[in-house]
Amino acid sequence: MTQSTIPLVKVGMPASDVLMPALERTLYGGMLAEGEQVYEFERRCATAFGLPRVLAMSSGTGALHASLYFAGVRPGDEVISTPITAEPTNVAVLHVGGTVVWSDVDPRSGNADPAAIERAITPRTKAILIVHYAGYPVDMEGVMAVSHRHGIPVIEDCAHAIGARSAGQPVGTHGDFSIFSFQAIKHMTTVDGGLLAFRDSSLEDNIKRFRWFGMDKGVARTNLDVSSVGWKYNMNNVTATIGLCQLDTIDQRVAAHIENGHYYDRAFAGMRHVAPAHFLDCDRPSYWLYTLLCDDSDAVEKALQAEGIGASKLHRRNDLHSLFASSRRPLPGADEFARRYLHLPVGWWVTPEDRDRIVKIVERAA
Ligand SMILES: *Cc1c(COP(=O)(O)O)cnc(C)c1O
Repeated sequence: MTQSTIPLVKVGMPASDVLMPALERTLYGGMLAEGEQVYEFERRCATAFGLPRVLAMSSGTGALHASLYFAGVRPGDEVISTPITAEPTNVAVLHVGGTVVWSDVDPRSGNADPAAIERAITPRTKAILIVHYAGYPVDMEGVMAVSHRHGIPVIEDCAHAIGARSAGQPVGTHGDFSIFSFQAIKHMTTVDGGLLAFRDSSLEDNIKRFRWFGMDKGVARTNLDVSSVGWKYNMNNVTATIGLCQLDTIDQRVAAHIENGHYYDRAFAGMRHVAPAHFLDCDRPSYWLYTLLCDDSDAVEKALQAEGIGASKLHRRNDLHSLFASSRRPLPGADEFARRYLHLPVGWWVTPEDRDRIVKIVERAA
């Protein structure tokens, strides 16, 4: 019997009998641009993700650009960040003319280490950018303590981490800004799209102008004065319609990731030559990907791939890109994590039989 292949990431769409009528209403409803569907999507995201104030964006990257700008990063300023992430996290620092300063990661999770962040602070540091990598929460109590000691704002990149909790609170509620992505392969997709959450309510109008050419919505264009540069980062009603349908089932999707993640955590805890990624007892990962640490990650990766299982190190550590050559410095924690980690499929499409099979292959190959 041939066994099915199991991808590492997969597009999750609402059932077509739910999505298509809703899309049809929007597509032929006469209003495609930013409108009521977008504003309803914002209200429902705030409730669903436990965030006080959010604005919908055209992408997570646009949300990162805005958060860095409103954190006060200007050309020549330093942003402390992590190399263990997808590229948009760090490319966005360059959008505002900032310089990336790497802080080393905890080799047991690939996540930011508050003590390493504190050591990387200089008089030019304007923001701390952390990533809940693969859906594993960063120690946000530790990061916020550093932030408060030095008066430096924190941006949480939650692109992998919908549904995760840090210190008992949803990710995105600790930092001054947080961003989410609804790109095609994230926990929840709107095809493309993003969300920016922010603590300071006085920023709201300025962020809205930043996401739309520097203009105010709802004011006649002929009466409007543009006095600051804005971008084209707003969400449209079609995207928001997909998002509204996704919100109806996102809890179940995330719960399936978490159940599979817990299964792996138990299975790998006692196994020789591998270990589950570390997280604090007060935290809850949402396992966008499952992070396994291996003595020989290449051997385990090859064994899984030979059986059609999409295990891989999904990202290239960002400090190796030539774009960031001038930021390069020794990062022993990142070296160790990059050598040992492997991502395993863990999402809602992974059945109990699949995960059992994956555990057995890992056990043989490790
Ligand atoms: C996907 C992703 C982003 C960017 O999101 P887009 O919506 O694709 O712009 C940012 N950070 C991380 C960690 C991501 O994985």
